[in-house]
Amino acid sequence: MAQKTNWQVSNDFEAFCMEILNAYPEAIGVAYKGLDCGCALLCGVSAGSQPLGPLRYLSGQPRQPGRRQPICLKCKFDDGLRGRVVREGIFWPGTRDERPDIELRNLIGRSVFGTHYEEET
Ligand SMILES: [Zn+2]
Repeated sequence: MAQKTNWQVSNDFEAFCMEILNAYPEAIGVAYKGLDCGCALLCGVSAGSQPLGPLRYLSGQPRQPGRRQPICLKCKFDDGLRGRVVREGIFWPGTRDERPDIELRNLIGRSVFGTHYEEET
């Protein structure tokens, strides 16, 4: 499965997830799809597995301080969802102890990504 592929999250990844979590107080996690170019598509998810807000795009290209998010040429010409997803998962904020149980995490993951979903430990 795609999850075995090494996908480097950008330094902005966690900050970007926290922005989404702050924008949607009902969000308990952030579902993401990592693309082969290093970019990611993210969306807040509620405890009832509902998507919160629009799908947001995080460029994997290095960001210059004070500049806008750099454009990824690969993503500029497609939306990244056609066969370029190399990793999918959910970002859970807080420490390990603060996260929902693994059963609930997998339940939410499966409703978002499909029945094959199994969280990496
Ligand atoms: Zn890209």
